[in-house]
Amino acid sequence: MPLYNYRCVKCGHVMEVLEKANTNSRHTCKKCGAHRVEKMLPAFSVNSGSGTAGNSCPTGTCSLS
Ligand SMILES: [Zn+2]
Repeated sequence: MPLYNYRCVKCGHVMEVLEKANTNSRHTCKKCGAHRVEKMLPAFSVNSGSGTAGNSCPTGTCSLS
């Protein structure tokens, strides 16, 4: 099972949760007990495709870069 990071929207506590993919299971913050926790994106998906800041070329083949 993949490991997901969940962040509590109330206190900001981050916790790691093992769960199956594509499940909508609810989790509770282990620090403050709030039920509002949001799944954080895995680091590898954040890094991919986000390196275009300041580059307005839509195709990435412009001669300016
Ligand atoms: Zn919390």
